[in-house]
Amino acid sequence: MNSMSAAPNPTNYERENLGRVGANDERGKDVLVISVGEILENLLELQNLDSQIAALKRTGEVSPDLKGKQEELKRVSLREQEKLKSIDDLRLNRNQTKSALEICRQRILKADAASKDIKSASVFQAIIKEIDQLKTLEQDLEVKDNSITKDFEALQAQLSEIQNERTNLENSIGSASGIKKEKERGTEGKIREIESLKNQVISKIPASNVALYTRLIQARGGVAISRILGSACGACHMTLPPQFFIQLGRSPNIEQCPNCHRILVPLRIEKGGH
Ligand SMILES: [Zn+2]
Repeated sequence: MNSMSAAPNPTNYERENLGRVGANDERGKDVLVISVGEILENLLELQNLDSQIAALKRTGEVSPDLKGKQEELKRVSLREQEKLKSIDDLRLNRNQTKSALEICRQRILKADAASKDIKSASVFQAIIKEIDQLKTLEQDLEVKDNSITKDFEALQAQLSEIQNERTNLENSIGSASGIKKEKERGTEGKIREIESLKNQVISKIPASNVALYTRLIQARGGVAISRILGSACGACHMTLPPQFFIQLGRSPNIEQCPNCHRILVPLRIEKGGH
């Protein structure tokens, strides 16, 4: 028991004051006198349980790692689409080159055949010249065809690399989501356990204090209780006036920080310490 707990034999005055704090009107007759110290201990326990629940809920959120992988998958899929489009374009280009080459070769064969029956030297010269030009064109087209084939192979290799990357990402996202679901099931169970502990603690705290605590939890980012550190509120760090400490020693009520309104707890009150 600490100094703020009820004395073993409270005077009538004390009984009246403690009763005012502690009597739980809603739950009535069985509730005995409960000291401010005990209320604060229970509120601390409640805060601890609520913080545990908040932490469990946070771990249930999509991890930055998984989010990053999902973003990466989007980018990889986009690159895959682009690569497929390039491959299609190149395939068209390659087909055109191949048919141009085919036409060129046929013209060479025709010109060759025609050159055999030519009597006129000048016409013969012209055909030979045409054949030379066609052969140059044939060479150029062959070079182009080779280079397209190489580009095509390179693109195919890049595509399969991208597709591997995509498959790996999909697998890892799949298993991460599976782990996440499993975690969520465990988390829900733990939260239920803590909720039932919370109910036990709540039953020991006067309803008006529970109501205040609940309002503060909602309004103050899940932190309703603040330790007094030195002479300041541990949550908002505002220095508390000396007057406040005089009042704190005497007050039969729980006190709130004048700045952030959180319920103030002197350092000497331990969570669960009886
Ligand atoms: Zn404060």
